[in-house]
Amino acid sequence: DLIFADSLSRLGTESAFMVLARASKLAAEGREIINLGIGQPDFQTPEHIVEAGIKALRDGHHGYTPANGLPVLREAVAADLHHRHGAEVNPDNVVVVPGGKPTMFFAVLMFGQPGTEIMYPNPGFPIYESVIKYSGATPVPIRLREENGFAFSAEEVLGQITDRTRLIIINSPANPTGGVTPREEIDKLVAGLMEHPQVALLSDEIYSQMLYHGQEHVSLLQYPEIRDRLILLDGWSKTYAMTGWRLGFAVWPDAAVDHVTRLCINDHSCVNAAAQYAGLAALTGPQDAVRDMVAEFDSRRAVIVAALNDLPGVRCSDPGGAFYAFPNIEGTGMSAMEAQNRFLDEAGVATVAGTSFGAMGEDYLRFSYANSEANIRKAIDRIGAIL
Ligand code: PLP
Repeated sequence: DLIFADSLSRLGTESAFMVLARASKLAAEGREIINLGIGQPDFQTPEHIVEAGIKALRDGHHGYTPANGLPVLREAVAADLHHRHGAEVNPDNVVVVPGGKPTMFFAVLMFGQPGTEIMYPNPGFPIYESVIKYSGATPVPIRLREENGFAFSAEEVLGQITDRTRLIIINSPANPTGGVTPREEIDKLVAGLMEHPQVALLSDEIYSQMLYHGQEHVSLLQYPEIRDRLILLDGWSKTYAMTGWRLGFAVWPDAAVDHVTRLCINDHSCVNAAAQYAGLAALTGPQDAVRDMVAEFDSRRAVIVAALNDLPGVRCSDPGGAFYAFPNIEGTGMSAMEAQNRFLDEAGVATVAGTSFGAMGEDYLRFSYANSEANIRKAIDRIGAIL
């Protein structure tokens, strides 16, 4: 028999992909499945971006690019961040990678090893906890509570710092809750971190452009005092409906740029060139498609939150960002996993159990509203019939 490395037993996964596989299997058997499980926009990549990718291929961009990304793309990222957040970013600190996930993996590998601790949001994106465990570091959850709009408490985060803490991961707007952390909490966190100069911060801002009802996005780039240890993660997947292109970027502190570039060279050499040219067109071209998508998500948000709150035993707070609703289903008497399975098997509605996002998601279910308003209404009606 093959003898695999012990580290593999510590590597978790993203259950949304398993739900997707099961939903696809049921659909292949002829069931009509409404997928509210998947975390990707249900829109096509805007046409001018697709055209730029095709043109890059026709123009002969078939080879390697620099490992950290095309200089012209890194300059466009820096200009975009300046435009959106008012922050000065040196293109040399920008590293382009295949999606949002590699930045997470590389940041955790860079700071995590046995004997160290890394904090991460719980409930939160499952890959954080998975890769922390894989690195051998101890995962320390930052508990997110419904009554705080699923924002972290800076006091709690700071209170958990020990001399073994190497990295703190935060995510706003958040997956799976849609929670947006207010400026005061971020101010407090940054102020408190001044006493812990050895602690790095990974701010996952992949949903930075998906905000509703007047919520503002506070980028950690706006705090010059922590730029020497901030890793800012963002990317094209959600904003430009480009999940399958595999394109993301991060801004790294000076001290980490060479390390992450070496990780890129060891891992993937560079991101495929055509995707990088498409990403360039996304940043430098018209932004109407982004505005239209966000407006569409906003009206669906209102529909799904109201419909969920009308279900017996279900209570749903209004998410400020991303495209997820995260209702509390304790009153239905079902566990999160039971609800996920019954809704899929009996109603043909795919959702993801809150426990897929950490132990603290026990009483919750994630609904992605990256689906049409008509399908959302139909899905909630079917669930209502079960309840
Ligand atoms: N960060 C968060 C919070 C996410 O929800 C996701 C995707 O679901 C990612 C990062 C990763 O995105 P990508 O598909 O670009 O790797």
